[in-house]
Amino acid sequence: MLFHTHLLLGITFFLFTKNSFSGGNVIIFLILVLFGSILPDIDESKSKLNHWFGLGKIAAFFSRHRGLFHSLIFTLFLFFLISFFTRDYYAYAVIIGYFSHLVGDAFTPMGIQIFYPFSNFKLKGPIKVGHFGETIIMVLLALVIVKIILF
Ligand SMILES: [Zn+2]
Repeated sequence: MLFHTHLLLGITFFLFTKNSFSGGNVIIFLILVLFGSILPDIDESKSKLNHWFGLGKIAAFFSRHRGLFHSLIFTLFLFFLISFFTRDYYAYAVIIGYFSHLVGDAFTPMGIQIFYPFSNFKLKGPIKVGHFGETIIMVLLALVIVKIILF
């Protein structure tokens, strides 16, 4: 999915989950969710994230696009890695964003290999990246966000 769709998905996941966690600053929590929601595309050299930080060449060396970095196995690993350095509250934030990214990509025809590297099983859907279907999803997400914030 596109950068903006991932951010919208991240915000949506944040709004639905923020009250389930406590133990830190909610603004930092939100920022970390948003960070997590774009982090998986670190394996794509042309992604926005790599445009900013130029880490793509390193990540692409370790994994092709939507390989390891788009798997639930790696998501779990990432959680333990982050929670080693900071409190669980913030580790959950990154993981919630990260997970929202995987959910978004799972709706695209290219799909994601959720159990990679242990299985090549692919989860995929009909929403073509950058096409009409994605626009509809973006609008729906925006409506959900507005509804949750206002009502
Ligand atoms: Zn992705």
